[in-house]
Amino acid sequence: MILDVVSIFPEYLAPLDLSLIGKARREGLLDLRVHDLRDFTHDRHHSVDDSPYGGGAGMVMKPQPWAEALAHVAASGAHGARPRLIVPGPGGMPFTQALARELAEEPWLAFACGRYEGIDERVYEYAADELGLEVSVVSLGDYVLNGGEVAVLAMVEAVARLLPGVIGNAESLVEESHEDGLLEYPVYTKPASWESSAGVTRAVPPVLLSGDHGAIAAWRHQQRLERTAARRPDLLHSAAALTTQDLAITAAQPSDAAELTTLQRACWVSEAKANDTHDIPPLVESVDDVAHGLLEWQTWVVREGGRLVASVRARSHPDDPATWQIGRLMVAPDLQGRGLGRALLAHAEAQAPSGTAAYWLNTGTRSDRNLRTYRKAGYRVQPGEGAFPGTVDLLKRRR
Ligand code: SAM
Repeated sequence: MILDVVSIFPEYLAPLDLSLIGKARREGLLDLRVHDLRDFTHDRHHSVDDSPYGGGAGMVMKPQPWAEALAHVAASGAHGARPRLIVPGPGGMPFTQALARELAEEPWLAFACGRYEGIDERVYEYAADELGLEVSVVSLGDYVLNGGEVAVLAMVEAVARLLPGVIGNAESLVEESHEDGLLEYPVYTKPASWESSAGVTRAVPPVLLSGDHGAIAAWRHQQRLERTAARRPDLLHSAAALTTQDLAITAAQPSDAAELTTLQRACWVSEAKANDTHDIPPLVESVDDVAHGLLEWQTWVVREGGRLVASVRARSHPDDPATWQIGRLMVAPDLQGRGLGRALLAHAEAQAPSGTAAYWLNTGTRSDRNLRTYRKAGYRVQPGEGAFPGTVDLLKRRR
């Protein structure tokens, strides 16, 4: 992944030389380039700010140095490639684990670190209209920092640790806080009984020493619920609203075709980007095509508050009834990362008729997120090209 950061304090980014991110840079997994905004000024004082039109406190960053700096960054890509531009700002969309995952799919990110009262608004327009960049204003949280550098440090760390090879043990990413809407359970290490200097002894919860993996998993899940309820009840509400037990998965009706078409489009744009093609059936199908698909496949939908938020479909393979084909697994973009997709996949598997020997799925060769989800669910990529160009097939034996 390529990362460009433009700042008036390039030294602020020095911590990105340390620890796992520094190692990833040295190993070539991350190509991080830091640019000094003042290098793109032409006056004696290298000034980057001026007083605001309309009056008011503070200074505003001038458009010219920013335009030149961003044009310089954008021009550094090969074959017309363009970075996605992230502008940290308290007025932006919240930076979440789901957004970190989304950004981790991008090959190239550029960050514009504002200072003072922020950057002249025309820079955003220029970057989008003249440089052709996708511009996202992203906030670290509902508070105000002095500059974007701290936000970039946090975002780069959260994004980079999701890249393959950056964290030694990728399994450790799976159960972390926010991965499925809940906080992580408490963790302990040796000794099993630890005495503080005041002579108070504290023991590790006995279940963790029991060797009973089922009991440990149940205890951890309960801890996650309790911790989330205590510290972040707002998360528990949305995560709980979407737990498998509460999910109302119903058979799709012909009248669902229009909403399914809309959901497909919303869900497959990221696929089109990841696989560099727009020629994907779920993206181009008409409402009639989708209605026709409802006749050929068993399709299930999930509604939340009346809104169709997720769906999956399945059927016995027309030429091989022992194979249960599962497809069109989709979850509305704002509800992804909460286990809804996994629950729907399990539901589709559970509907397979007796005599089914294997479950079959197909996804884009470069659909890393899907591939991760399916591998976690026990699917294995089959050798060679999948059923459609640019795709791979995945299989899971039925137990
Ligand atoms: N006047 C701006 C406002 O009220 O939205 C705040 C400007 S702040 C003092 C200066 C810079 O710090 C911003 O341009 C942005 O780069 C960064 N910044 C401040 N708070 C931030 C936050 N919560 N998340 C991300 N960046 C932030």
